[in-house]
Amino acid sequence: MADRASGRGRATKAGVDRLLRGVGVSSGIAIGPAHVVDAGALLAPEYAIPEDGLEAEVQRFATAADKARRQVRKLKTKSSALPDSAAEEIGILLDAHFAMLSGSRLMRGVEKRIRQDKLNAEAAVQAEITSIAQSFADMEDAYLAARVADVREVGQRLLRNLMQHKYQAFSFLPEGCIVLAEDLSPADTALMDPRRIGGFATMLGGPEGHTAIMARSLGLPAVLGTLGLLQGVQNGDTVVVDGIAGQVCVNPSPDVLDGYRRRRAELLAERAQLKTLRKLPAITRDGTAVTLNANLELPRELDGALDVGASGVGLLRTEFLFMNREDLPDEDEQTEILTRIVASMDGKPVTARTLDIGGEKIATALRGYFSEPTNPALGLRAIRLSLKEPKLLETQLAAMLRAGAHGNLRILLPMISSVAEVRRVREIMATVVRRLRRRGVKIAHPLPKLGIMIEIPGAALSADGLAPFCDFFAIGTNDLIQYTLAIDRGDEQVADLYDPLHPAVLRLVQFTTEAALRARIPVSICGEMAGDPRYTALLLGLGIRELSMAPNNLPVVKRRLRGLDLVEATRRARTIMDQTDQGRIAALLDDFNDAAV
Ligand code: PEP
Ligand code: MG
Repeated sequence: MADRASGRGRATKAGVDRLLRGVGVSSGIAIGPAHVVDAGALLAPEYAIPEDGLEAEVQRFATAADKARRQVRKLKTKSSALPDSAAEEIGILLDAHFAMLSGSRLMRGVEKRIRQDKLNAEAAVQAEITSIAQSFADMEDAYLAARVADVREVGQRLLRNLMQHKYQAFSFLPEGCIVLAEDLSPADTALMDPRRIGGFATMLGGPEGHTAIMARSLGLPAVLGTLGLLQGVQNGDTVVVDGIAGQVCVNPSPDVLDGYRRRRAELLAERAQLKTLRKLPAITRDGTAVTLNANLELPRELDGALDVGASGVGLLRTEFLFMNREDLPDEDEQTEILTRIVASMDGKPVTARTLDIGGEKIATALRGYFSEPTNPALGLRAIRLSLKEPKLLETQLAAMLRAGAHGNLRILLPMISSVAEVRRVREIMATVVRRLRRRGVKIAHPLPKLGIMIEIPGAALSADGLAPFCDFFAIGTNDLIQYTLAIDRGDEQVADLYDPLHPAVLRLVQFTTEAALRARIPVSICGEMAGDPRYTALLLGLGIRELSMAPNNLPVVKRRLRGLDLVEATRRARTIMDQTDQGRIAALLDDFNDAAV
């Protein structure tokens, strides 16, 4: 596919600089050599399958093939937005891939090898590709020889799906390189060390998915949903990822590169300037204090949170401790990690959320707990998994109770939809407490506060009923928007419909906030809305006084709130809540923000 260049290109002395458009999800500009993920072939493991395991192995292969067909279909939809000739050419290629994945010689051959040779699916795919490639080569036909590359590409896709796209070895990449990939999971992204990786870009993925959130947390410039990204780019090509403009530039000409370098220097200077806000209080112009907390995924992000002067950790996504490993972290390991975080925060609150695995957040070690869901976002996810597999929850609660003895820890439950779920968790927690006491283990005293995420519209609508059973609410706007507007937060095709300012979303936030205030329990926002200064005035105007966000966003939000008058913001929020049109709401909010100093 080397010459299927697309996007807007223009010839320069240095070659062709290609400007590709995507969705900028994490601000900043990164410049560096390209590293194309999946450029290398995967090595298939080989082992024998016992007679009584053959049907399950065939089924595993069928699931991988289903996933591959879905991926190819998604890529085809995406590529239809390319300029005409490129769309046609790539469309033909993807149709051929789709055909190979549906009742073809490849598929029949793999199934036969699993059944007859009792081979595992990966080895069967590898053997069948080799055999097809050999028979094409024997025909000495140039057209068929070219098809071999397609068969191999389809085979690699099947292998990746079978092998669950195992942990990317980003640590071996040259310093400052830019990772380019068809898609990256949140778990892949968690492996990127910002001291080594400059930034990344993918063809798929939307702005509110966890890959995007992870990029923001790590402070890595990133562009997702980039049209035509992998066509004609080679390892080592110079690439610019502009996470603000949502653009990727491949092999920029010297003058274009200079422009990016200047802009990058300006951004870094601005960031350094914002650091001076660290010691200033988070207080509005008219004197109301606001709590600004940090969201953490990985323990190594803790320094960033301390650096920007966060008042605490408003959301610790513990699921990332379960990713990129074959085994599950046991109680001692979880206790040790949580204790380190709690102790480092030195008395400031740490809100540890129980597992939110499922949906797009996948952990290999938990693979056995799920069957392939038709609709992952609506399936076995978060608290639903924890209550179905109480051992997971018991271990987490035990670790949290133990870590709570070393500081200020709060427990947060994700995806709660009913009072019954909260009651059940409280019962399980009581059992765990008794068990730990019997073991003579030191636990938090008093017991940690237990709060819930309000991120399902049903929970928001029954917030007044849930409040008496909870010690606090944390509004998860990411999922609240996804479920209220029926928009997959990780799908770039509908990214433009994902609107935090939709009146339905704002009403749910307002209703939840008022329910919490009436019940006299704290309420915070820890979705991505909290970290965007565009929304600060509105959220404060609705009564929110606690926001939790990626540490990198904290200084800009602090700057915004220090410049705003809360009485004015409340008045503007009231006007906004009378509106039914998103455009009008956006205009009213932007006017208010523009008028700020
Ligand atoms: C949310 O849904 O807003 C949230 C904070 O949870 P997550 O992004 O981890 O789903
Ligand atoms: Mg959520």
